[in-house]
Amino acid sequence: MSTSPRFDPQSREYGRRVKKAQQGLARRKLDAMVVYDRHNTFYLTGLHCSFSYLVISPREAFLLVDGRYIEAARETVRHIDVRLMRKPRQDLGRLLRGPRPRAVGFEGSAAWGTVDEWRSLLPGVEWHECGELILKQRLIKSPTEIKLIEKSARMTDQIFENVTGRIEPGMTEMDVRNRIRGEADRLGARALSFDCIVASGMTSSRPHYSPAERPLEAGELLLIDMGVVVEGYCSDMTRVVAVGRPPKPRLRRLYDAVLEAEQAALAAVKPGVACAELDRIARDKLKARRLGRYFIHGLGHGVGLEIHEAPTLNNRSQQILRAGMVITIEPGAYLPGRGGVRIEDLVVVTRNGRRVLSRTPKAFRVARFST
Ligand code: ZN
Ligand code: ZN
Repeated sequence: MSTSPRFDPQSREYGRRVKKAQQGLARRKLDAMVVYDRHNTFYLTGLHCSFSYLVISPREAFLLVDGRYIEAARETVRHIDVRLMRKPRQDLGRLLRGPRPRAVGFEGSAAWGTVDEWRSLLPGVEWHECGELILKQRLIKSPTEIKLIEKSARMTDQIFENVTGRIEPGMTEMDVRNRIRGEADRLGARALSFDCIVASGMTSSRPHYSPAERPLEAGELLLIDMGVVVEGYCSDMTRVVAVGRPPKPRLRRLYDAVLEAEQAALAAVKPGVACAELDRIARDKLKARRLGRYFIHGLGHGVGLEIHEAPTLNNRSQQILRAGMVITIEPGAYLPGRGGVRIEDLVVVTRNGRRVLSRTPKAFRVARFST
């Protein structure tokens, strides 16, 4: 194996991201910014790191990491000056004092105690919350990011197929969850993008249910909401299948109604459409079937380095779709004591409309018991 440094074309993209953040700082008349959030740090450097300081000024950028990460940082990060951090407070203070700042930015996600500590390092400097600078950049995904999200979605499809193709009598929700975890490991996911939801029968009427030792029963619905993290990027998908044999007609009708709402909202996805309008389209479809009051959450959310990020799709959202956003469309209807259905696709907004990244079929399906 060659030990010579390899050129990573991705580092050019990271370089562009830092430059864009620097332009944002200049516009906001900030002399520097401390990036502390690990997702923002990864976005700007390509380094997975649980603790670091990235100090950006309109002309320079430094990444401070401790001994645990220095080797990885020097190998991964080529577009920024990487420094070894020995004493976090003092080292950060020294770096920040370099450009003699008057105004320094920080992310809203940094705890107030932390910011207070930074304040004490630089008496007389004004601190401004400016996290939206980076979050706004993250809102529109680059082609590279979309490829990675798609890779993540593909793995989610694969896991779903492998797991629901082998439902055995006596299996519990927990067993299904453990299989999902096992498949994610086997296929090389970095992690699950959230602790997956596996709900069967009556429990499927609880949108944020945690799986339990409840055996899957024939004729019940099984709802699986899951995703994985691949190279930093999350995926998110929900499907509902019937277990063993077809369910009661009422549950089947519930499925069809939610699918109709999902498809209507999906078909309306394109640049320029208001997120609140998409929510309304799905809600109107469910209302027409007298299921409006059972749709008890918003329509969806953005997905990227985090499983929930901007934009938010609900009836209060002020955001407008733009090409390059990656969102979920996930209407649901939950009948207390009977069961619920949610169908969720991961979608990228394209210049002319949309491209659905989730490929698992949505036609109603009975997962037969395999023995
Ligand atoms: Zn989900
Ligand atoms: Zn979701």
